Amino acid sequence: MRFLRVAIDVPIPRLFDYIAPETDDAIERGMRVLVPFGARQQVGLIVDVLAETAISASKLKRARDVLRDTPPLSSEWLGLVQFCSDYYHRPLGEVALSAMPPRLRRPEPLQRGVDAWQITALGRESFAKARNRLGDDKRAILDFLLTHASGLHDELIARIAQGTGAIRDLARRGWIVMAERSAPDWRFVERTPISHQVVAIDAIAASSDRFTAFVLHGITGSGKTEVYLHAIHRVVQAGHQALVLVPEINLTPQLAHEFRSRFPGLPIVILHSGLAANERALAWLDAQTGQARIVLGTRMGVFTPFKDLRLIVVDEEHDTSFKQQDGVRYSARDLAVFRARALNIPMVLGSATPSIETFANAESGRYRLLTLPERARDGALMPTIRLIDVRKDLPQHGIADALIAALRLRIERGEQSLVYLNRRGYAPVMACGACGWVADCTRCSAHQVVHMAVRGKQTSDAPRAAHLRCHHCGLVSPPPRACPTCGNVDLAAFGRGTQRLEDTIVDLFPSARILRIDSDSTRNKGSWESMRNSIANDEVDILIGTQILAKGHDFPRLTLVGVLNADASLMAGDYRAPERLFSQLQQVAGRAGRAALHGEVLIQTRYPHAALYQSLVRNDFRGFAQQQLAERTSAGFPPSTAEAVLRAEAHEIEIANQFLRAAVLVAPADRESVSVFDPVPMTLTRLSGWERAHVLMQSGSRRALQNFIGEWVTSLHALPAQRDLRWHIDVDPLEF
Ligand code: ADP
Ligand code: ZN
Ligand code: ZN
Repeated sequence: MRFLRVAIDVPIPRLFDYIAPETDDAIERGMRVLVPFGARQQVGLIVDVLAETAISASKLKRARDVLRDTPPLSSEWLGLVQFCSDYYHRPLGEVALSAMPPRLRRPEPLQRGVDAWQITALGRESFAKARNRLGDDKRAILDFLLTHASGLHDELIARIAQGTGAIRDLARRGWIVMAERSAPDWRFVERTPISHQVVAIDAIAASSDRFTAFVLHGITGSGKTEVYLHAIHRVVQAGHQALVLVPEINLTPQLAHEFRSRFPGLPIVILHSGLAANERALAWLDAQTGQARIVLGTRMGVFTPFKDLRLIVVDEEHDTSFKQQDGVRYSARDLAVFRARALNIPMVLGSATPSIETFANAESGRYRLLTLPERARDGALMPTIRLIDVRKDLPQHGIADALIAALRLRIERGEQSLVYLNRRGYAPVMACGACGWVADCTRCSAHQVVHMAVRGKQTSDAPRAAHLRCHHCGLVSPPPRACPTCGNVDLAAFGRGTQRLEDTIVDLFPSARILRIDSDSTRNKGSWESMRNSIANDEVDILIGTQILAKGHDFPRLTLVGVLNADASLMAGDYRAPERLFSQLQQVAGRAGRAALHGEVLIQTRYPHAALYQSLVRNDFRGFAQQQLAERTSAGFPPSTAEAVLRAEAHEIEIANQFLRAAVLVAPADRESVSVFDPVPMTLTRLSGWERAHVLMQSGSRRALQNFIGEWVTSLHALPAQRDLRWHIDVDPLEF
């Protein structure tokens, strides 16, 4: 008898043993398996095949079926999810199953075309003998595979493709196997790299057979993508595979287009959560079988199985969207580093503004720094950055005179401008001037944002509020007709979002062609694409946008960027806020003057002497990062310490606090190397109706912190479960 140790997606940190199904077929770890669990059946992952178990066989259930529509996951992949489970303290089953495409968590075999298979010698022989004893489907499949070239009409192929049961059966008998598709015919469209790019490309190639984490620090427009393309070229030329992680779904189609046009004919797959279920599973499978040579993906792409992965690129490595904010709270960037080290391959962390953690690793020599200090395009210089002191140049309707004049000049010259305001909607607050009432979200500790339905030609009359929306939980409500507290009918919208800014700019420049780009205006599928086209075709004079515009876009005629309301983030309490602001401003400033036309950036601020702005004006990331690192070190923040939080969520804050206090009582005794702070509510205390509080842990030793959490989690799981309360550990948290 054989036993299977199976990881199942349940919130219990243990594995489950089953008796293997009665079959002569090989069963390996890494295979998916359908098992009974409670009253239901679940797809789990086999992590071990055993000859005996500690539990007596009479108490074990039998696994239903080993799923063979995909090959077993490699031990490298199993090692990755095991590490993720250990490091983030989540059950292995939860990590492993949520790392897979949802389609592979269902037992029905993956639908693939018949032409994905080929007939074996055994199949040929047996088919010749047993032809007349086979069912119609099987006979048609084998006929098709035998006479592949002659071609069957589409209808029949479609019908056979549905008959996956027949395919599975033939595969089990060994009559057919997954086809070794012929090596694709592809080429690399060359472009001569400039000197700094050459240095970077060569350094990466020189490390092709061992782990090195390269930090590619390149200013905006320095051609980081070109370095990736060349480094990847060397890898795929040698027959290997490469993985590229990017922060946003938004950017993947563009990057995919660029990669496909530089590697015509090369199989490149894209992996992100927006794909249809079957498509995503097939892309994953293509990577696993080695068919796909380049995988471009968002953070979940880090879990892609590969046959022969030899390079990992993390583009915009500083981006916080690499950290998953619910479920298994992993950092795709950090897992990518682990994976490269485990595989002993090089990796590249690219950014114009590396995270302070990565910067510190480059400074200490743990990572190797590669620098692209100038723009790649002939004649393209960094834009000039100027600060507008709004205490002197008092803005009318939010826009200072100096910025208005600069916008006017661009319109006269026929160039494009971008006005950047990282706040969508019409106005961030609706309030009563008489009694001070503010429209708050009922489910979150946040104000509701005023949104207008459509942009109409505006006079400066009272706003026509269309609805109020919470930007945290999405709750939409109609604007009240009168103040619910005092009955005042004169409710006002305070502050300015992109919609209101658009109205202002339309008033200021009535004949200009104006386009607002934020996640509201680009919500419909394809609208962002068509907007990008109209910018490229010079059909826009002034762009108004949020950070959706800050990244990765190349608009050659854009020469002016105006930045509004940056000060709001300058004052934020979070120790990572300056880093994020610097990065955002550097990114958006980088949109100006990408081609031959010189760019100018105007930032409106009340604090022109702030160190952050001064570093920005000097284009001095290094100076900024060193100062941040020094501040964080003296304050005891990461990366000088390692952090984690135990977070509790309940419908009443007191329940969350009670749990945390009880949790602290059962915390391990090692308080010397790990500091445990008192429970505090999170900054955004209420989210979607959950009140949230947490306990912060810090340690100078990552290992000590890990041991501490490991022990603590065991005791926490042993605490009696409470209705209406949920808790989790967040390692290396970004939210406080
Ligand atoms: P980054 O991602 O570093 O901001 P990009 O990769 O977008 O920069 O490159 C900036 C611009 O420079 C792009 O238009 C790109 O086509 C161009 N470019 C990059 N490398 C070269 C090169 N070696 N020769 C000519 N143009 C280049
Ligand atoms: Zn009132
Ligand atoms: Zn809300």
